[in-house]
Amino acid sequence: MHIVIIGTGYVGLVTGACFSDLGHNVSCLDIDKQKIATLQKGISPIFEPGLEELIQKGIYSNRLRFIHEHDDSSLSADLFFMCLPTPSGKDGDCDLSYLTKACQDLAPRLHTGYRIIVNKSTVPVGTAEMVKAILSEGIKKDVSFDVVSNPEFLKEGKAIEDFMHPDRIIIGTENQKPKDIMQELYKSFSDTPTIFMDAASAEMTKYAANAMLACRISFMNELAHLAEKFGANIKKIKLGIGLDKRIGSQFLEAGLGYGGSCFPKDIKAINYMAQKEGLFSPILQAIDTTNRNQVPLFVDKIIKTIGSAEKLKGLKIAILGLAFKAFTDDIRESKSLELINELSKLGCELSLFDPVAMENTKQLFDNHPSITFSENEYACVENSDALVLVTEWPQFKVLDFNKIMQKMKKAYLFDGRNFLDKNKLKEMGFYYYGIGN
Ligand code: NAD
Repeated sequence: MHIVIIGTGYVGLVTGACFSDLGHNVSCLDIDKQKIATLQKGISPIFEPGLEELIQKGIYSNRLRFIHEHDDSSLSADLFFMCLPTPSGKDGDCDLSYLTKACQDLAPRLHTGYRIIVNKSTVPVGTAEMVKAILSEGIKKDVSFDVVSNPEFLKEGKAIEDFMHPDRIIIGTENQKPKDIMQELYKSFSDTPTIFMDAASAEMTKYAANAMLACRISFMNELAHLAEKFGANIKKIKLGIGLDKRIGSQFLEAGLGYGGSCFPKDIKAINYMAQKEGLFSPILQAIDTTNRNQVPLFVDKIIKTIGSAEKLKGLKIAILGLAFKAFTDDIRESKSLELINELSKLGCELSLFDPVAMENTKQLFDNHPSITFSENEYACVENSDALVLVTEWPQFKVLDFNKIMQKMKKAYLFDGRNFLDKNKLKEMGFYYYGIGN
């Protein structure tokens, strides 16, 4: 099939590269000219394992190309995938301006035939209807179309694997023609449950999935505070409940909370949807409240351990991990950024390291008087008074902690992900502080 991807970011680029690998003819369009120029050279502008190889394979096979505006070829496509940003608006609502703009731009250019506009962005219930209305207004009379909701569930860092082997495919449309075409498009995923539903349910399924996952994280974070108070250990509790098949063991890690470009904005958006309709949804609200408390509580723990906020002034703190999670360079809504801001306000000198997210972070803090970027973990901890682990990169687990200890001035270690071997580190002489651990 001939597919156009509109919005070539984390979701659009992976979707485009994977569809081309499955034999489809794909044009990826983005308004960011620099991004398109980079992609045309076969270079991925984002860090995502396996993605650059797929891009190069697609370009070489002539099934994948990158454009910054529509042309005759893109306008003759069968399917247009909308993979556009849907960030938080100022009240926590979902900002649909990127999607609106892209639809308004596309509609008058389409000529003759039948097209399917597929929405892969995470959007509030009713957006498929909104897209239909925008297109109907701008589209020529000899073009017919359907709008389908096909939410994406990939995880950054494992995006290719998730796209190629999804747990399920959700297709939101009640019309037969787009159902048949979408089924054909996904025919190589015959082992994957494909669920057809109305567009509103498909749109809500995405929010429900993210809210459920975020809820598990916030729930465990609340339990971690209780565990800490009562002398219990949240890691053991996690094991104890995770083996219950009704519960399962995933998304039960206590820590600094969830970040990234999806959970925070999606939880705010579903809350906004509920409030707008006057609905009472205390659980949805609590997910966000608990998450927002995690960094301030952790900073409190650092202050209490050191003695006072005053004593923190001028101390050198090493921060390991800047990405919002491991295996990505994405720092959007990263807990590291929150922590960096809080500790800077307290007058700390910060040295930062992340295996792949340094460049993105430098763009935010370059030339900051009290922030330095280090070459590696050992340089990062040099002369530091405390080490804070924020992102669970596997390479941090296997550091030479004897060497780390020698390089540090004081052996305070705050593990924001309960990721390191607490007992071993304590034996070595570190003052170890986790979260409920
Ligand atoms: P992103 O910011 O990485 O990419 C969006 C791209 O759209 C950018 O490259 C931007 O330049 C481009 N763009 C903006 N306006 C445009 C226009 N008018 N025409 C063409 N291109 C335009 O965003 P993302 O992380 O890929 O997320 C996209 C959507 O998918 C969001 O709704 C998000 O919630 C959802 N989603 C994201 C993930 C994830 O892990 N990132 C997972 C599932 C769903």
